[in-house]
Amino acid sequence: MSVLDPVIELVRGLGTTLKMMIEGPVTIQYPEEKREVRPRFRGRHVLKRYDNGLEKCIGCSLCAAACPADAIFVEASENTDEKRFSPGERYASTYEINMLRCIYCGFCEDACPTEAIVLGDNYELSFYDRRSAIYTKESLLEPVPTVDMTTPRKVEAGVFTRSVPEMKDPQD
Ligand code: SF4
Ligand code: SF4
Repeated sequence: MSVLDPVIELVRGLGTTLKMMIEGPVTIQYPEEKREVRPRFRGRHVLKRYDNGLEKCIGCSLCAAACPADAIFVEASENTDEKRFSPGERYASTYEINMLRCIYCGFCEDACPTEAIVLGDNYELSFYDRRSAIYTKESLLEPVPTVDMTTPRKVEAGVFTRSVPEMKDPQD
């Protein structure tokens, strides 16, 4: 270690202080101002819909099986063309995530064959009690694109038979 090293470090430190004085404060005035998250940030889950409003979730429980924290509970029921929630045979009649257990690993997202469950960019998670930390399907499901696309709804018979859609690049 040279005798000049402390001086170099001191100058570097003063340089940082000077930079902050020129650039202004870096404090974010949350909640009025919200910090932009990184592209791969994993926040609150969202249950996605297709453009036609049908739910992507088919109640297969692969997300629950993949979850290392045992945070997901799924119960499936049968679709009919008279009362259709999602394409294919089944839909999730119950879908719950215990956010107190979740470690935001993203395994559920990776395991999902229809890209139904996605960890979004919302980091505003707070609860007043343990019960409200269990997010239900109603709170996780994204809104319908238009009011006539709500689920369940009556659809043309024999059209939505495939549970898993054709994907351009399944490895994408
Ligand atoms: S992010 Fe991980 S811990 Fe959280 S629900 Fe998904 S698989 Fe489970
Ligand atoms: S979110 Fe995906 S993996 Fe989980 S039950 Fe629905 S379709 Fe299956």
